[in-house]
Amino acid sequence: MKEFNTINYETPADHIARITLDRPRSRNAQDTHLLYELNDAFDIAAQDDEVKVIILAANGPHFSSGHDLRETDHFENFNAHRTVGTWCGLACGGAEPVMTRERELYLGFSERWRNIPKPTIAQVQGKCIAGGLMLIWPCDLIVASEDALFQDNTIDMGVSGVEYFAHPTELGSRKAKELLFTADWLSAAEAHRLGMVNHVVPLMELEDATLALARRIAKKPMFALRLAKEAVNTFEDARGRQAGMMNAFNLHQLCHSHNMQVHEMPIDPGYLRDGFGKSGQK
Ligand code: ZN
Repeated sequence: MKEFNTINYETPADHIARITLDRPRSRNAQDTHLLYELNDAFDIAAQDDEVKVIILAANGPHFSSGHDLRETDHFENFNAHRTVGTWCGLACGGAEPVMTRERELYLGFSERWRNIPKPTIAQVQGKCIAGGLMLIWPCDLIVASEDALFQDNTIDMGVSGVEYFAHPTELGSRKAKELLFTADWLSAAEAHRLGMVNHVVPLMELEDATLALARRIAKKPMFALRLAKEAVNTFEDARGRQAGMMNAFNLHQLCHSHNMQVHEMPIDPGYLRDGFGKSGQK
């Protein structure tokens, strides 16, 4: 079994794999290394014929604070891991470095995990901010604890929404706009009411409830599970999810490019100046 530094991989029950984010002191902020480890772990679970259901969980009080904005050598780290063929790195200048990295790491990975041909369940507690949504939204089911809070604060950074733009699919258009425009917290109860979350349980019961759900699903015929997942996913895509998401990703890149021209950095520096604390992302 591969050794991981930023995640844990275990099989807590027959036919179930659990991948756990394990940077609790950084509120499970996602740096380049963590995302590649997470992708490797999903690959292991997807390719293991014994595994029928995959749980994505997180250690510590918060699921994830989003992308790790403190990672200063993210392009070098991307260059060390990347799977895209042609890339001239920072030497390209312009929009290419950011777009290439985010296309693979953010949109690419999340879309890839969404299409794993096995049921996946996100187990969410505490805060799940911006990039955190890009880990749970690709999962088929979401179980949240009562204290779970969801937020997309990218507009505060001068960007039009996270790279994996599933807001309209997850929340409906009106609530999606409100989440984006205000960066207000979405509670677990409200997320449940809107259909974004399947079940809300007390924090103490979160792990057991998620595992119990996974066990029930793992008893079903694998091929039928896989095809049911594919049927729903194809339905969403026929409604325009994939094309809408691609457009939103390109608009997101336009925001980075605009910020580079105006502020010489890909996000609005006002966000960093005012402190990450505004959104609880620190
Ligand atoms: Zn971005």
